[in-house]
Amino acid sequence: MCVRSCFQSPRLQWVWRTAFLKHTQRRHQGSHRWTHLGGSTYRAVIFDMGGVLIPSPGRVAAEWEVQNRIPSGTILKALMEGGENGPWMRFMRAEITAEGFLREFGRLCSEMLKTSVPVDSFFSLLTSERVAKQFPVMTEAITQIRAKGLQTAVLSNNFYLPNQKSFLPLDRKQFDVIVESCMEGICKPDPRIYKLCLERLGLQPSESIFLDDLGPNLKEAARLGIHTIKVNDPETAVKELEALLGFTLRVGVPSTRPVKKTMEIPKDSLQKYLKDLLGIQTTGPLELLQFDHGQSNPTYYIRLANRDLVLRKKPPGTLLPSAHAIEREFRIMKALANAGVPVPNVLDLCEDSSVIGTPFYVMEYCPGLIYKDPSLPGLEPSHRRAIYTAMNTVLCKIHSVDLQAVGLEDYGKQGDYIPRQVRTWVKQYRASETSTIPAMERLIEWLPLHLPRQQRTTVVHGDFRLDNLVFHPEEPEVLAVLDWELSTLGDPLADVAYSCLAHYLPSSFPVLRGINDCDLTQLGIPAAEEYFRMYCLQMGLPPTENWNFYMAFSFFRVAAILQGVYKRSLTGQASSTYAEQTGKLTEFVSNLAWDFAVKEGFRVFKEMAFTNPLTRSYHMWARPQSQWCPTGSRSYSSVPEASPAHTSRGGLVISPESLSPPVRELYHRLKHFMEQRVYPAEPELQSHQASAARWSPSPLIEDLKEKAKAEGLWNLFLPLEADPEKKYGAGLTNVEYAHLCELMGTSLYAPEVCNCSAPDTGNMELLVRYGTEVQKARWLIPLLEGKARSCFAMTEPQVASSDATNIEASIREEDSFYVINGHKWWITGILDPRCQLCVFMGKTDPHAPRHRQQSVLLVPMDTPGIKIIRPLTVYGLEDAPGGHGEVRFEHVRVPKENMVLGPGRGFEIAQGRLGPGRIHHCMRLIGFSERALALMKARVKSRVAFGKPLVEQGTVLADIAQSRVEIEQARLLVLRAAHLMDLAGNKAAALDIAMIKMVAPSMASRVIDRAIQAFGAAGLSSDYPLAQFFTWARALRFADGPDEVHRATVAKLELKHRI
Ligand SMILES: Cc1cc2nc3c(=O)[nH]c(=O)nc-3n(C[C@H](O)[C@H](O)[C@H](O)COP(=O)(O)OP(=O)(O)OC[C@H]3O[C@@H](n4cnc5c(N)ncnc54)[C@H](O)[C@@H]3O)c2cc1C
Repeated sequence: MCVRSCFQSPRLQWVWRTAFLKHTQRRHQGSHRWTHLGGSTYRAVIFDMGGVLIPSPGRVAAEWEVQNRIPSGTILKALMEGGENGPWMRFMRAEITAEGFLREFGRLCSEMLKTSVPVDSFFSLLTSERVAKQFPVMTEAITQIRAKGLQTAVLSNNFYLPNQKSFLPLDRKQFDVIVESCMEGICKPDPRIYKLCLERLGLQPSESIFLDDLGPNLKEAARLGIHTIKVNDPETAVKELEALLGFTLRVGVPSTRPVKKTMEIPKDSLQKYLKDLLGIQTTGPLELLQFDHGQSNPTYYIRLANRDLVLRKKPPGTLLPSAHAIEREFRIMKALANAGVPVPNVLDLCEDSSVIGTPFYVMEYCPGLIYKDPSLPGLEPSHRRAIYTAMNTVLCKIHSVDLQAVGLEDYGKQGDYIPRQVRTWVKQYRASETSTIPAMERLIEWLPLHLPRQQRTTVVHGDFRLDNLVFHPEEPEVLAVLDWELSTLGDPLADVAYSCLAHYLPSSFPVLRGINDCDLTQLGIPAAEEYFRMYCLQMGLPPTENWNFYMAFSFFRVAAILQGVYKRSLTGQASSTYAEQTGKLTEFVSNLAWDFAVKEGFRVFKEMAFTNPLTRSYHMWARPQSQWCPTGSRSYSSVPEASPAHTSRGGLVISPESLSPPVRELYHRLKHFMEQRVYPAEPELQSHQASAARWSPSPLIEDLKEKAKAEGLWNLFLPLEADPEKKYGAGLTNVEYAHLCELMGTSLYAPEVCNCSAPDTGNMELLVRYGTEVQKARWLIPLLEGKARSCFAMTEPQVASSDATNIEASIREEDSFYVINGHKWWITGILDPRCQLCVFMGKTDPHAPRHRQQSVLLVPMDTPGIKIIRPLTVYGLEDAPGGHGEVRFEHVRVPKENMVLGPGRGFEIAQGRLGPGRIHHCMRLIGFSERALALMKARVKSRVAFGKPLVEQGTVLADIAQSRVEIEQARLLVLRAAHLMDLAGNKAAALDIAMIKMVAPSMASRVIDRAIQAFGAAGLSSDYPLAQFFTWARALRFADGPDEVHRATVAKLELKHRI
């Protein structure tokens, strides 16, 4: 399948490129091998079915997985599960029915993914008429084989359908022998079934050739003496078969068919025109075929007097002025041929509609090879590399054409190509939009803000891909570049990026086969980065830094095209059978585009921060909004400017303006983001929390998360000390983060938007510090990516949990599992449907010393036995969707490898986890307080009571002053604790941490309370964030341990160290 079959818009009609297929080469290859073998003794060809005659279950599964967002490879893994005795093989031997198979298989997949998998829909797709269709190339081959008097057979592992018929979607008449595993009760690679097939054919093994896509099946056949062909791609396999048999298996011009009635053109008139054009007197009859593709600009193959030609014409009827511009195609190919670019040789443009009814042009048919599969099956690695290099070289050639010399200066507008393209494709997308696709919306905002400065204007092809190139049959040389319909003048880097699309798509991608799941090194194919480098080197350009932008744009464009096809499929305009399916992939492609946008943002920030070289990081950054000037920054004393990055380690940085330039820039970016995105979203987020849908995450939050990612405002929390290589986070010091965290704290929603909210931050830090690589891969990565959430379960209703040694939940060893029993409550976040991990604290050994009894286990939330009893409320607030749950753990079995650090280490972990985590709450509390004071000041200036504005009342002034002083005191203490943690470590900062824990929540409660008082009753309502701020400030006098416990710590340390 090719993407062109889906792109049927007037602008994007795929046209005549299939005219250049490779029958000549096939003949050549066939005869060469035949000679080499010295004659055929083969008398039958035996075909496997799935993967040879029809698409393989693996390929269908891959397509289905993409569409259903099931992790790639799940189905294949489940099909192979259990080997000979797995459900799939038993189904093939008819030992279980279709229903039984689906039951077992569904269970298997669900166990693998820990969620239910709709295997019925996969089975329906697998057996659907649309998918289970014989490859035309195989039909043609079978016809030729039988015409030569050889026998054909199917030897298939297949199954009974629920209607008791065996699944064999083939024309049985094509085969002399059909052997089906479900009928015989034997499956390949069992040798008996091959013998049975040979017996029915009446042949010896050496007299037959067997084609299968699976290695073990071929191996067994070869062991029996049958000649085998491994089928990766049906076309390549047919070529190999031709070589063995020594005769052609395909006749005619590939991808052509008799001309449709509605597409007929007057042959006599055409013949007369061609005779004049070619200067020939006598000819035989004119042979005319139509190419399968090209309904937009119908395209014909012509054979006349031994000349192979291609004619491409406008469609009949009234046309839009800019559409179907075949004159442009003719012009560019003619001009480029003069500049030495390999293009088909165009012969004439006939604009006289009286000849065949519409204008048309004629060119020579260019035989050669078109590689439809970008993984280039069947080639040597060095050959593959050479093919990609040749592709790169020809692109450089196109981009090096001297526009003036070939008269193409006016072929398009000079400059501003990308901005114009973005506008065009946004417009096209909007015109065909059928529902809101979040990634498209984000891209539509992001792309115009991140436009690159165009360095050069050259000819751009507009659809430069491997399967638009005709290659020499033997040499890695491009004979012709096809499909110039989208060509214009523009930014050449767009072509380079576009030619790498396949690198990022899976091989199963339904409309454009990709190679992202192939081992490129092994195949010899240059990775996209190398391809870009190669291009720059050949063009003599410096490396392209912002190619992620170009990739984002290229995928955006494809997504817009796919959406157009989809829309037309809904209105019945698109003729492609794949149109509907294609359109559904818009979302998938737009997500890919967005991934590149995020990567680009990350790159820009990394450069700005002049930190370490590009290591893998989950911390994403975006281009700064340099035009934005911060307003309303805090005005208190500042430390001298322009300290280099992270000099905050040296002196205490008490104001954001004294942060190092990159962090200061980050601070302002966050501030801008808060003002532009977060505060305006608060009313909607708040009403979601009060709605019936509140136990599901707000889509707006998810959208804001993506935007924060792209702005580089993501995972800021992990302290440099815990993540010195900045593998997982921004690598900020605690002091730097304190300023940013305070800013996030001014909104209840910002911490989650920036993936900096509790309890995930503490849990992520726990995993970074103590997790094994396997634990990190399973839990840390989805948390860092914001795809999952987590909770921490320690507190129990039966015991005073401020003393963690009281915890009673039991963790008992049983074989290779731990079994948990316990009753917990106040578990923040446990009700969130995204919550996948519970970090559980319980006792493994009640007899060990007091601080060695506890252990920490990672418990997947879908483990049976976790029973949520109810959501608790805080002053009546539910805090949905995460909530605070009361929950029972009843015989919850967790594999032993889910233990963190080891049995008895729970206390140690809890202490480590709560180091920076504790201070984060305090930083946010300062943010609550600042916002409350700001709201209060605005309110009292605008309200008049008893003849004067409230702000003139002495008590109000006193409250404002008191609040300002308390905030500043608390902030200094928070910054001091953070500074000490940076300089001397969490342990050394224990006293300071305890002090701020003691101070911050009650300070915030007082400041917010004063603001509420100044607001009047409105302050208690949900029209302002004050009531919620107050609630959480109050709750935080427990949530991280009661005030009294922190006071006790301060006193203990004071007495110990300061006599
Ligand atoms: C909003 C919210 C979210 C929470 N989220 C989580 C969570 O995600 N996971 C989790 O495990 N827990 C969570 N908790 C629970 C919280 O950690 C506990 O409430 C806290 O540790 C206190 O335990 P307790 O409620 O059992 O109080 P108790 O231990 O019963 O203490 C009751 C009171 O006794 C007094 N007291 C205790 N110790 C001393 C002392 N040394 N000196 C003097 N007085 C003392 C204090 O006044 C204290 O408030 C949350 C709580 C809240 C309010």
